[in-house]
Amino acid sequence: MKIAILGGGESGVGSAILAHTKGYDVFLSDYGNIADKYKQMLNDHNIEWEEGKHSLSRILDADEVIKSPGIADETPVVEKIISANIPIVSEIEFAARFTKAKMICISGSNGKTTTTSLIYYIFKKAGLNVGLAGNIGRSLALQVMEGKAEYYVIELSSFQLDNMFDFRADVAVLMNITPDHLDRYKYDMARYADSKMRIIQNQTPKDFFIYWSQDEYIEKLLKQSETNTPPAPTPSSRPAAKGNPHRCGFTDEDFSRLGLSFSQPGVHNQRNAMAAFLAAKAVGIDESIVRQCLTDFPGVEHRLEKVAVVNGVTYINDSKATNVDACHVALKAINAPIVLIVGGKDKGNDYTVLYDIIKEKCSALVYLGADNQKLHDSFDQLGIDTADTHSMAECVEACRKFATPGTNVLLSPCCASFDLFKNMEDRGEQFKSLIRNIKA
Ligand code: ADP
Repeated sequence: MKIAILGGGESGVGSAILAHTKGYDVFLSDYGNIADKYKQMLNDHNIEWEEGKHSLSRILDADEVIKSPGIADETPVVEKIISANIPIVSEIEFAARFTKAKMICISGSNGKTTTTSLIYYIFKKAGLNVGLAGNIGRSLALQVMEGKAEYYVIELSSFQLDNMFDFRADVAVLMNITPDHLDRYKYDMARYADSKMRIIQNQTPKDFFIYWSQDEYIEKLLKQSETNTPPAPTPSSRPAAKGNPHRCGFTDEDFSRLGLSFSQPGVHNQRNAMAAFLAAKAVGIDESIVRQCLTDFPGVEHRLEKVAVVNGVTYINDSKATNVDACHVALKAINAPIVLIVGGKDKGNDYTVLYDIIKEKCSALVYLGADNQKLHDSFDQLGIDTADTHSMAECVEACRKFATPGTNVLLSPCCASFDLFKNMEDRGEQFKSLIRNIKA
């Protein structure tokens, strides 16, 4: 059987090595450049690869294509594969065929990484043999090949879910569904929501579906899925298979009702903790270990990460807040007065939903972007002090001027980082290093 792999990153190269080891005829193609370490891995396994082009004749000769989640259906090569009726699967779908380990899968518009990391932390502390995969950690395919883990905790984006069909999660966690990535779903929220609901496909009543039941969409979609099959969310995808899991919806009251406490701030983090608590219970971990882990959890870098207190001002790095909803929950979690840093590459944001909470909690706004015009148009009317900056150094300087002792300076930018930074990690790192260099 011939497999073509699109994308030579962590998931593509992992899939290539797994497929090759399992005896498939493998060809990997990347339209961009492949990093040296991945070329080396492919060469070590004698796997054929190309970069800077897509050789259509080779790709269309395949029986199945494994596509990196970053490659959209509208890409010419994917359109050709779809027209040729060659099945396209994701790395997770492919890798899962070769393991009997239990799959704990986490999705949602926000909170995936925090919840995934927390579940992994609890499983490890409980002494389970567990691997971390999906959007974080090493590729599932490579870990499956090593064959060591009995559990995999997997962070799934909607793009990965789009190309999953026969996969079944033993425990599925869905944190929320709010508008994000709509450019990949024909600007149709229903398509995006359907994609997220694929997390429960193939589940049976002995599998668990853990979800925040106060979400606007999840309960509604669960009801719909009882009666009709949702449409295929993207052209490369078959309709989702039916799922009938054991449902474990939770509400915001459950956290205090159970007397839980969590090391990370905010109601949104209590939701993440509740989801992890229920996932750990689903696999039978002792509750006292879970409770202890919730209080010990060190948090995840770039998510409401407390950087330092300098001259009575607390600096918080939430560079991962790349949409308006994430900034909103951050503002709710942090005490006033706040100097808020916003800006970057706008993904079609509607900032009006932030007006009330900004008026309530922010003493100043610092705009940080290559082009701040939309921020001026949106926020200047609120009558709060603002500063216009175009580099992290300028931005931190402006924050220092605004922040009096007792203030929280919060980098929670609502936007992607690619206008001024390599990525959101680079944005967070630059912020942290400048803060750490401020002389007290
Ligand atoms: P993801 O992996 O889905 O992007 P993260 O855990 O990395 O999620 O958090 C991203 C941002 O979303 C953070 O800035 C955080 O403030 C916010 N966030 C985290 N958990 C939640 C949640 N349960 N609901 C809404 N927003 C959240």
